[in-house]
Amino acid sequence: MSSDVNPFESLQSQIDDAATHLDVGEDVIERLKHPERVLETNLTVEMDDGTLERFTAFRSQFNGDRGPYKGGIRYHPNVTRDEVKALSGWMTYKTAIVDIPLGGGKGGIIIDPDGYSETELERITRAFAKELTPFIGEDKDIPAPDVNTGQREMNWIKDTYETLENTTEPGVITGKDLDSGGSEGRVEATGRSTVIAAREAFEYLGRDIADATVAVQGYGNAGWISAKLVEEMGATVVAVSDSSGGVYNPDGLDAVAAKNHKNETGSVVGFPDGEEEVTNDELLTLDVDLLIPAALENAITEEIAADVNADVISEAANGPITPAGDAVLAEKDTIVVPDILANAGGVTVSYFEWVQNRQRFYWDEETVNERLEEIIVDSFDALTEAYEEHDLDTFREAAYVVSIQRVVDAFEQAGTFP
Ligand code: GLU
Repeated sequence: MSSDVNPFESLQSQIDDAATHLDVGEDVIERLKHPERVLETNLTVEMDDGTLERFTAFRSQFNGDRGPYKGGIRYHPNVTRDEVKALSGWMTYKTAIVDIPLGGGKGGIIIDPDGYSETELERITRAFAKELTPFIGEDKDIPAPDVNTGQREMNWIKDTYETLENTTEPGVITGKDLDSGGSEGRVEATGRSTVIAAREAFEYLGRDIADATVAVQGYGNAGWISAKLVEEMGATVVAVSDSSGGVYNPDGLDAVAAKNHKNETGSVVGFPDGEEEVTNDELLTLDVDLLIPAALENAITEEIAADVNADVISEAANGPITPAGDAVLAEKDTIVVPDILANAGGVTVSYFEWVQNRQRFYWDEETVNERLEEIIVDSFDALTEAYEEHDLDTFREAAYVVSIQRVVDAFEQAGTFP
């Protein structure tokens, strides 16, 4: 990862790019480039050995014009205030492109969770939940999972919030376990939209995804589910990786078996189906039809983009391509399905979870998946329509043109206060 590219600057340049195609005043665009507010807090938490440790955590509430702030909470040693701000901005445009009535937010704790016991992680999570409690709520700000957080953390946050507020409010957070009010299909949703969006992109090119070879960078929830589901569409997954490295077999790998190997050994490296070991950078430049970056920001820099061979990239991660990388890919006519659409399945099914929580009425998995499919396909169509109508260079620009306009419309109809 090239850490010298600041993701918040990437977000702002993406907005500036799209703004040139919109009839929106600079003053309004300026508003759309900055979070409304950012909470920065220091958590003092007791470790298992009785000592205290301090953790810095953030929650950025980027934009609430279209509804309550919405977005995940990540646990990672490289979390920064600017990263959280960028991610909260991407959430704003993500909820807008899929047209669900939510705004954008994001949180993070600077922590490597591997270094802590489960009881320590519970205390850290509950300490953050206590700080968040005055700022969140089903009509205010609704957190969710992100990198290194999942159902377990969401259950703890829900319980802390409900205990402190002396209420029952499952819709305060999404991505929960089914028994805590979670939704069917939520765990798979990010990977599902990533491959539905990729399938639509192949169709747009007059091709069938079933004939595609695929490389997946990152084998966490988004990456491995994408691999599994694209395989179910008939495509051939030839390479997968995680932070320790990757494996490649031009004849194909079994996505589920690779996940089992990672569960057993901690990594996909050494997975026996792999003919060759590859680094993450090598994986990104393999001669495949579809590339799915599913790790962190800035994976595809200008230099790597120059060597990318894929025809289509579907961004399961948030911000995996730097703006300079994007420009190189546009020159090469590589189709990039942008993160704000490709991985929007996660937040879309979070929205379904929130709706079900508020109605206390739960849907079956088939209903969830059908409604998700419909939203992603409709959003893809809105994107390609804008791409053609404005004669844009990239799908990313098209996604921002559509989503910025939606946020602007909500803002302008409401007016400013005071
Ligand atoms: N963290 C996920 C994302 O980046 C999901 C957010 C949510 O479900 O609110 O889209």
